[in-house]
Amino acid sequence: MKRLLIAGNWKMNLDRQSAVQLASRVAAGAAAVEHADLAVCPPSVYLSAVGEALVGTSVKLGAQNVYHQPKGAFTGEISTEMLTDVGCHCVILGHSERRHIFHEADAEINRKLLAVLETELWPIVCVGELLEEREAGKSQEVVRGQCAGSLAGLTADQMARVTLAYEPVWAIGTGKVATPEIAQEIHADLRKTLSDRYNGEIAGGVRILYGGSVKPDNASDLLTQPDIDGALVGGASLKADSFLAIAAAAKPA
Ligand code: PEP
Repeated sequence: MKRLLIAGNWKMNLDRQSAVQLASRVAAGAAAVEHADLAVCPPSVYLSAVGEALVGTSVKLGAQNVYHQPKGAFTGEISTEMLTDVGCHCVILGHSERRHIFHEADAEINRKLLAVLETELWPIVCVGELLEEREAGKSQEVVRGQCAGSLAGLTADQMARVTLAYEPVWAIGTGKVATPEIAQEIHADLRKTLSDRYNGEIAGGVRILYGGSVKPDNASDLLTQPDIDGALVGGASLKADSFLAIAAAAKPA
């Protein structure tokens, strides 16, 4: 059975001290979480400090974004090599806030993904539809399109290293969680898309996380769906107790 992944996206929150404190608390609680992998993704300026707090623990360090070029005159950007240099294990790509606030398109996410796959980093690629797209009955079409664009040109071996995250935009930070049935339906469709494009083994092995207002009280219903392999958690990852409670809910019955 696949190990679930519970990843915390801290976004642009916390200060250095509270980030290190949160990482230390998560790491302390992680000893009791044998059934799932845990990762935290702090703001980039705190990656080193948080990484130090995680040394010797099972909690992985992740970044929230990266640029596809290896180095050069790209003011404000960070390369894959810089992320590995500070101890990152994974990186989130194509988060809906990157797509919708910073206008990142699938082609750009694909360039980043291909650059990440040249390294040891594990990418977490996010997809998800807007409320109006869901209301227009276009959720699957939108998510399939984002997958086709973001994952363009990947070999089966490269795909096997990707984690996907289905994050309906209408559920992110809104408290409106997708029902387990809605999430499961999209996850199953994503898996079928991967199976059609690669094969059943690749499709079955790729972890597909759900993200969007996951909290301790709804985590179990979501995480027990057959095609949900973990969670990408925003708001509830900013408190060690709630993040660890979500991780505890990932335990198989
Ligand atoms: C996210 O931003 O990835 C997210 C899922 O946020 P929240 O859990 O706060 O909805």
